[in-house]
Amino acid sequence: DFYIRRLYLRIQDCFGRPIASAPDAWFDVVERYSNDNNKTLKVFGVLWITLIKCLLCRRTSKKSRCLNLGSYNYLGFAASDEYCTPRVIESLKRFSPSTCSTRVDGGNTTIHKELEECVANFVGKPAAIVFGMGYVTNSAILPVLIGKGGLIISDSLNHNSIVNGARGSGATIRVFQHNTPSHLEKVLREQIAEGQPRTRRPWKKIIVIVEGIYSMEGELCKLPEIVVICKKYRAYVYLDEAHSIGAVGKTGRGVCELLGVDTADVDIMMGTFTKSFGSCGGYIAGSKELVEYLKYTCPAHLYATSISPPAAQQIISSIKVILGEDGTSRGAQKLARIGENSNFFRSELQKMGFEVLGDNDSPVMPIMLYNPAKIPAFSRECLKKNVAVVTVAFPATPLLLARARICISASHSKEDLLRALEVISEVGDLLHLTIPPVLTIGS
Ligand code: PMP
Repeated sequence: DFYIRRLYLRIQDCFGRPIASAPDAWFDVVERYSNDNNKTLKVFGVLWITLIKCLLCRRTSKKSRCLNLGSYNYLGFAASDEYCTPRVIESLKRFSPSTCSTRVDGGNTTIHKELEECVANFVGKPAAIVFGMGYVTNSAILPVLIGKGGLIISDSLNHNSIVNGARGSGATIRVFQHNTPSHLEKVLREQIAEGQPRTRRPWKKIIVIVEGIYSMEGELCKLPEIVVICKKYRAYVYLDEAHSIGAVGKTGRGVCELLGVDTADVDIMMGTFTKSFGSCGGYIAGSKELVEYLKYTCPAHLYATSISPPAAQQIISSIKVILGEDGTSRGAQKLARIGENSNFFRSELQKMGFEVLGDNDSPVMPIMLYNPAKIPAFSRECLKKNVAVVTVAFPATPLLLARARICISASHSKEDLLRALEVISEVGDLLHLTIPPVLTIGS
């Protein structure tokens, strides 16, 4: 009975559905021997189990060999790295996986202080504070920065963590058209003229929130224009660099470096470590006063366990590689590679006739699918050909603007990209995604 039971389970595993729908041959064996208790049955059972185990192993190993075009591993640090990994392992031994304590209690180790200095220096601000999660960085910081009587003006396509943080703050929220500086100025002008709805006094504080690279659009923020407008109307600029820090700019310092914006003109710089640095957590960088204030008031700093030391070490080490402080030029090569890979892939997709959103240099490349029925078909067909692609749909995008989102990495080789292009082209033909060449009259 024991063997028969295991056999049942294995068959179910193998076919991923109840035994009743397994092929008849399997069913016969089970039926015939289910009441028999003799030795032959046991041997038979063991044989079947071994056979199915082999099949399962083949299935899993086949699945695991996919080309990943879906994760935010922009610089390839999420895989094992010759400089980062030994140091992370060392930190694990030295500090353990968790401090099991908040920063203000026992969770403030030397590694946490080193991380904050390292991040502030990297992003070009006097000070920084780190948190265990990127999402929480936005959602917990905004309510501390602004409250009732304040005004938040947010890009219409800002990330959910920003939306939640803004809602939780109690400030008045206005939205401007996605990445449209002229509309931002219009909203600012209207709101300053109106003041607070009840008292008609000017707003206590105005914060304009934008992202460096928009994760669903692949677009670069029009930061130079936005900064000028914010200065004119005395509004603070809050920049979320989750997808741009480490990924763009000559030395990986994000959109400010790429677009020639002085970091002094961005008041609050936010970013996450889950993308280019292959770790987890988030940061806020700004003036010393701002960071001190957050350290004494932000609940996510006061009441949450500090970021895991090995995760912190991964960030420090990857920044050192980016800056060439590991004694090699690997960082510079990775940065050059991600730019080349992104621009090559984008232009090839466009040549094939796909509708691709976003700007040059951005590693995020949404391919428009529009029709919600094509969402599962696109990822399934790619996966059949061993290419893993993420598709995004409502509520992350408007209902009829579904898309497949490609994320390019510095660790993709030219062969990887060519293979991916071939697969996407085949799937595009299958699902009629490419725009046919325009027919001229008489042709
Ligand atoms: N901000 C933006 C713009 C994001 O895209 C994300 C998530 N990808 C976050 C914040 C949250 O970051 P994390 O996944 O590191 O929690």
